Amino acid sequence: MRVCSRLLEESNRSLEIHVFDFDDTLVRTNSKIKVEHNDGEVTFLSPREYAKYRREPGDVFDYSEFEEVIEPELVTSTFLRLKRAVKELGSDNVFILTARGNPEPVAEYLDSVGVSGVRVFAVGTSDPAAKANVIKDEVISKNIKRVYFYDDAMKNIEAVKKLRKILSGVSIITMRMK
Ligand SMILES: [Mg+2]
Repeated sequence: MRVCSRLLEESNRSLEIHVFDFDDTLVRTNSKIKVEHNDGEVTFLSPREYAKYRREPGDVFDYSEFEEVIEPELVTSTFLRLKRAVKELGSDNVFILTARGNPEPVAEYLDSVGVSGVRVFAVGTSDPAAKANVIKDEVISKNIKRVYFYDDAMKNIEAVKKLRKILSGVSIITMRMK
């Protein structure tokens, strides 16, 4: 009986995914978003400042610093969770979900710190619905039963929590990383 329940537990874990945001969740970098305002003034926002920024008419955003991973510093507690998830579940069940537009620099960076093979979804927008949609599609296409979602931005956490209403029978566990 004990063996049976352990087998069941293992097979259940293959229906589990762990989804990590990148900036300010796994890594802190010095990349900034450049904003040119209507009056010609220029400001630079960290991803955290950008998440709270209210756009004004005429704002022009430049995300080019997010084409690279500039002066990265791992957030150790989250990184250990990522490593453990990959070890326990395999890289198919772990992925990175970032508002960045280009997945390549993120994948290269992860490679350089010893994490290979995890997929990187770069949604290219700070709209939280974009992240929630990627998770929804993954859950539906692979019949996932449990989701762990790690992100530092409250608006992303809220958007993913809302999936509970449409994905019945799926446990969605969100963790806000600071
Ligand atoms: Mg973030």
